[in-house]
Amino acid sequence: MIKKKYIYLCAINNIESGTCNEDCKFCTQSTKHKAIILRYKRKNIQDIVDEAKMAKKNKAIGYCLVTAGLGLTDDRLEFVTQAAYAIKKEVSDINLIACNGIASIEQLKELKKAGISRYNHNLETSQSFYKDVCTTHLWEDRYLTCQNVHSAGLGLVCGGILGMGESNMDRISMFNSIASLNPKTVPLNFFHPNEALPMVHNTLNIHIAFDLIKKAKQIINPEKLMVAGGREITFKNYEYDIFKYGANSIVIGDYLTTSGNKATKDIKELEKLGFEISTSCDK
Ligand code: SF4
Repeated sequence: MIKKKYIYLCAINNIESGTCNEDCKFCTQSTKHKAIILRYKRKNIQDIVDEAKMAKKNKAIGYCLVTAGLGLTDDRLEFVTQAAYAIKKEVSDINLIACNGIASIEQLKELKKAGISRYNHNLETSQSFYKDVCTTHLWEDRYLTCQNVHSAGLGLVCGGILGMGESNMDRISMFNSIASLNPKTVPLNFFHPNEALPMVHNTLNIHIAFDLIKKAKQIINPEKLMVAGGREITFKNYEYDIFKYGANSIVIGDYLTTSGNKATKDIKELEKLGFEISTSCDK
């Protein structure tokens, strides 16, 4: 009997958007770049719960609460935990992930108490290229937060962005650094250009992009290799070929500040291609 290939779907929700004072050159949420995006401090908790219900309806097994900003503050931690408690009360069987930047072990333990099972913190690029994309904090701070995630007993989700002008050596170096952190899920983002950003072009072509998925699979080999932001614009009509190169997970619905495919389109295409959409994180 042919074993079906499972695809894992995950939805992300920008519960605080565009308020970050850091200067990451790839990020429209930085206040330094004046990109035209929605900016708000706190999304209404009931809206976050309702969107979790919608994510579940769209077959997402993970739901990620993302905040803009360098890291967790007391206020932000309270907001994220409130949102997590509210979702847990009304939505069963959805894994909660938080993505709130730099965090200490104590803060991460608070998230765990509120029902968060995984924490997403990306290295973004290689240690040596990081100073070319951000001058307001260090790559090493990112790496430390990823280690804190393990210390707090949460599952680590850690990936990066490709196509920002980094060299091939930088890409391999980033994959090796991610592998050293042993994450459960690795989201690969493909840079989505925006004219307000200091870096205007994506430096990849589709062949290199496919090859990078393959290399990430070889070097990191995580349980879940996710193609996240930039899937549609990078792979266009070949977007479902990512699964031939080792990906087994995608973001369903919209991204943080850009639109994604309609969830119904992705689900229909995946089923047409004979994939099984996973109903459990462990399957
Ligand atoms: S710290 Fe995060 S939210 Fe802030 S500019 Fe950098 S990537 Fe964007």
